[in-house]
Amino acid sequence: MRSLARYGHLFSQRFNSRIRAAVTTAVVGTVAIALLSSIAFGYARAQILHEEFGKLNAIAAEVLHRSERSSDQVRDAIGELQRQDAPPCSPQNLALMEQLDLKYGQLHGVGYVADNRLMCSSYGRHGGGILLPTPTYQHTLGGPGGLALLRKVNLSLSGEIGSEPVVVVTSAANGYSAIVSPTLPIDVYTKDPNVSLGTVLYGTSEVRMSRGTYNPAWRTRLGDQSHVEYLEHDRIVSLWRSSRYDYFAFAAIPADEATARIHQAGALIFSCAAFAMALLTFLTVLLGRKQVPLSECIREGLRRSEFYLVYQPVVDLKTGRWVGAEALLRWRRATGEHVRPDAFIPVAEESNLIGKLTDHVFELAIKDLAGFFKRYPDFHIAINVSSSEMQSAEIVSRLNGFVARAPGANQRNFVIEATERSLIEPETARGIFQKLRESGLAVAIDDFGTGFSSLCYLQSLSVDYLKIDKSFVDAIDTASVKNFVVEHIIGMAKDLQLRLIAEGVENEEQAGFLRDRGVEYAQGWHFAKAMPFDEFLASLNRQTA
Ligand code: C2E
Ligand code: CA
Ligand code: CA
Repeated sequence: MRSLARYGHLFSQRFNSRIRAAVTTAVVGTVAIALLSSIAFGYARAQILHEEFGKLNAIAAEVLHRSERSSDQVRDAIGELQRQDAPPCSPQNLALMEQLDLKYGQLHGVGYVADNRLMCSSYGRHGGGILLPTPTYQHTLGGPGGLALLRKVNLSLSGEIGSEPVVVVTSAANGYSAIVSPTLPIDVYTKDPNVSLGTVLYGTSEVRMSRGTYNPAWRTRLGDQSHVEYLEHDRIVSLWRSSRYDYFAFAAIPADEATARIHQAGALIFSCAAFAMALLTFLTVLLGRKQVPLSECIREGLRRSEFYLVYQPVVDLKTGRWVGAEALLRWRRATGEHVRPDAFIPVAEESNLIGKLTDHVFELAIKDLAGFFKRYPDFHIAINVSSSEMQSAEIVSRLNGFVARAPGANQRNFVIEATERSLIEPETARGIFQKLRESGLAVAIDDFGTGFSSLCYLQSLSVDYLKIDKSFVDAIDTASVKNFVVEHIIGMAKDLQLRLIAEGVENEEQAGFLRDRGVEYAQGWHFAKAMPFDEFLASLNRQTA
């Protein structure tokens, strides 16, 4: 339970404010993209339906318009015949019928029906009359014609009518009739064979004329409104009710084309949204990473104990024995990435974090070295101190404070390594070096030979060791000018009675060269690389056993 809580704590620490900000940005952005794409999809869907309804409404309105015009002509023709006083099939009336047939273009003819027989028409007299089927439905004509009886019939009266069935609309009041085509109103121009259209009696819901299918539920949906349009599960429907006649027009098309277009728009919008979300996540991760400066990472690394020490032995060149070791800092980040000291030490120096890092090095060393000096009282551990820290005398008490807290250790077990850059202010440096040595700590000039400017102060400086920089050791088996400089440095150190430690010794030739010229100590991969404390201690124990 406790370890779970600890894990939770570590986890929450890991989600530092920047990461939280990045995550918040990503989440808010994702929600916004999802919301916007939903709105865009809703708009696209409405737009597609609006277009489809527009087309369909125009068709249904055209059907209604043609039906009404046809009904108007039926009503007017019957009205004109009724106003005539002559007997229905008199020559005078037959002449009028012919005229009316010409006058009303929507009509195939006009005539007179008695006892279910068409007695005469604009085509002439029909002898004893043509027997008609009983009327199938009726509706009000409007005007003096009153109720109209309608029946569908095949009449072969002329080439105009042909063999197509016609509708005979008869006034129940006077028998005058109009002959109309049942398909004329629905012969609306439409390229689409899937369009269903027609007219339906409003009162009885009977279909007057239709092409394609009619769903009786549409009448219910229309209610007492003059127009409705809607999306049925598989069809788009538009209904228009006549304001003058007892019927309404309908038009319907399958919804698949509209649904396909809606799906297409949806796929496009949502894939764009998915891409935008992926891009947003990528960018926030990228920015989130980029935004965190290394100095902040160092701070966090300190909080999360991501640093540890490795130890590189310092070897006595005569005996080959390990006489000391340099503590070198390592940083393994939570991500598993190793950051080189060459990369983070300069950043720590620039951002005033180097003091915290040095403190941490001492804490880590004290922890590692608990009990160590009881067994190895003459061993020394070298600690690197940054040149910026060497500019104030406060470093002396700070370092001594640490040594005091190291159990079983005393000042002579520690060497403070400072580079030549520490000598920028020679007077200050001289004082500090002096005080460090007086307190019992040993002092080494690190990377010696790389900062020539202060060489001349060496004489007046109080130090214990010079660490010959690796670049000079590298030059030993070459004929370069640096080779000559090594001999010069060695000679000078002897004159000043300073002990020398050669850095970065990688082979026996270099070791032999240095040994032959009286260099006492060396460090380098030829002897040992820097290693974790456990490994270092085990090797040392084996060596002394
Ligand atoms: P440095 O103090 O001169 O440390 C010696 C560097 O040379 C170390 O690199 C070490 O691993 C490497 N080295 C040792 N022997 C050989 C060898 O035979 N061949 C080669 N090629 N390299 C060898 P590292 O640990 O990467 O440290 C680099 C620098 O980072 C150090 O140079 C030092 O300036 C700085 N540094 C490391 N740890 C600390 C620290 O705790 N505090 C401070 N202030 N600086 C540190
Ligand atoms: Ca060093
Ligand atoms: Ca060095």
